[in-house]
Amino acid sequence: MIQFLPLGGAGEIGANCYYLNINDIGVILDCGMHPQKTGLDSLPKFDLLEDKPTDYVLISHAHQDHLNALPFLIKKFPHLKIITTPQTRAVAELTLHNAISILKRQVDESEFEIYSRDEVDLLIKSINYKSYNEKFTLDSLNSSAKVEAEFLNAGHIIGSAGILLTFKDKRIFFTGDINLSSQTLLPGANLPSEKIDILITEATYGTTDSSIINEWEKEVDRFSSSINKVINNGGSVLIPVFALGKLQEMLATIWLQMQRNKITRVDIYTGGIGNKINRIYDYNRYVVNLNQKELLLYEIPQKGLNELKDFDDLFKIPSIILASSGMMVESTYSFMLAKRWLHNKDSAIFTVGYMDPSTPGSIIESARKGDKIQLTKKDRKIEVNCEVKNFRFSAHSKREELVLLVNKLKPNTVILVHGDKEAIDWMGATILKQHPGKKVYAAENFREIIFD
Ligand SMILES: [Zn+2]
Repeated sequence: MIQFLPLGGAGEIGANCYYLNINDIGVILDCGMHPQKTGLDSLPKFDLLEDKPTDYVLISHAHQDHLNALPFLIKKFPHLKIITTPQTRAVAELTLHNAISILKRQVDESEFEIYSRDEVDLLIKSINYKSYNEKFTLDSLNSSAKVEAEFLNAGHIIGSAGILLTFKDKRIFFTGDINLSSQTLLPGANLPSEKIDILITEATYGTTDSSIINEWEKEVDRFSSSINKVINNGGSVLIPVFALGKLQEMLATIWLQMQRNKITRVDIYTGGIGNKINRIYDYNRYVVNLNQKELLLYEIPQKGLNELKDFDDLFKIPSIILASSGMMVESTYSFMLAKRWLHNKDSAIFTVGYMDPSTPGSIIESARKGDKIQLTKKDRKIEVNCEVKNFRFSAHSKREELVLLVNKLKPNTVILVHGDKEAIDWMGATILKQHPGKKVYAAENFREIIFD
């Protein structure tokens, strides 16, 4: 008997967390925190696990919406064994510590108990790590069953993995966040070589018409010439990025283009936790087979945003600023810088990734010169004087590539997660059109699906 129960992250991009009961072995896939919610609302519904066997937590990658609720889960279920890739473990050590100070700003600690730095240290030490393609066994005192498990490179960020679980002759594959195409640093995903029975797949780009997404290299060219136009005119370019994944890809892309004389050499500013994550990319570049093994992110000349005395200095000499957060969330570097940028007519904000509709990033992304926009309820309306341009450097597969997964892996059953309703509907309808006999589920939070 196999039971699948989403505790979050079904029908949304939120607190991704899926429970699997495989013949009484309890496996939790991912344990994320909802990026746009706070306190208890931001956590998966752990209460639903109380009457169920729970043995393992496997984490697909270290993004907040897949990892950050882990300390809360372990507080409640301290017997759980955690398994990740070595790179996810290394990144988690940085980001879970960093998250403490963010949580402290967001929640009232008398109502919502935050974990401590010591608890993060102990949690990280207790993580058992397995490399890509290294098979390992999941078992439990409560069950005579044994589940074979394996992480496969998911091509999304450093250490990201698809998770393959084999029980008897049944194979379950959870994609995590997956990218089948190469980025500047990350090579595309590896897929299981054998037929899958149950495919649990993300659907992030289910609503995005792929014809508007350029191939990576083509987008790099458009991005480079657009940067040059601004800096050759004396302006500076602000690029909001996630500290994990997007920063490293964009930094490498810009530096390589400078070396090819495709982007004029100017100062590059970075800052925050992203610089530490850069080192994890550097150390692991051979282990995870990055595309640019000779390139050390650490050696790319960068100026520190935190060393700046006045943000206005960024406009005195043309420069490129890579600042987090990626969605310009309130009180982050990219948010504060964007407010200055909007006033400056010679400069530009270039967006490079997904913006949640509820974030200031989404408002800025769709604004154009002359518009009057209000970033948060607290802010006054600002006239947009700078240029705003949108680029797509996706770390997720296009929707057609996700449908191709079904052709390649030949699952009998497909469970769609990690996407809004429209995205899931497009994916489901397209898969059924191409494969009429398949069982396709739009997973719903807190609603279980049972297989024989
Ligand atoms: Zn992700």
